Amino acid sequence: MSYDKNNIFAKILRGEIPCKKVYENEYVLSFYDTNPKKKIHVLVIPKNEYIDLDDFTNKASDKEIVEFNKAILHVVKMLKISSHERGYRVLSNIGKDGGQEVPHFHYHIFGGEQIGKMVV
Ligand code: AMP
Repeated sequence: MSYDKNNIFAKILRGEIPCKKVYENEYVLSFYDTNPKKKIHVLVIPKNEYIDLDDFTNKASDKEIVEFNKAILHVVKMLKISSHERGYRVLSNIGKDGGQEVPHFHYHIFGGEQIGKMVV
């Protein structure tokens, strides 16, 4: 499967669709999910074109992978839900069985309340 340049997150990255931004740097963009599943529900996406976690891990540079993980830490600190505060959950849906809807790699960050069961 090749990367779909018309997916909604690609449009957000190109500035064609607005987002409620949390954080941005050279490598990542983080914004609020429009259909929040928990009190805090934020997405973190790489700026380059990767379909899912597998694609990201296969193709991204070591620098991008490190920066992506550091961005998650930065975002949870900004939101005051880091491990030193309330805590949070990260999740990435991959492919059909994983329930991925948007084919641009992203992590969901959930927090601000008890997240509950790991899988429902
Ligand atoms: P996934 O099922 O892991 O691909 O999740 C895609 C997520 O993107 C869902 O939680 C949607 O609510 C969210 N989403 C879809 N469109 C937008 C948008 N324009 N801005 C922010 N989040 C969005």
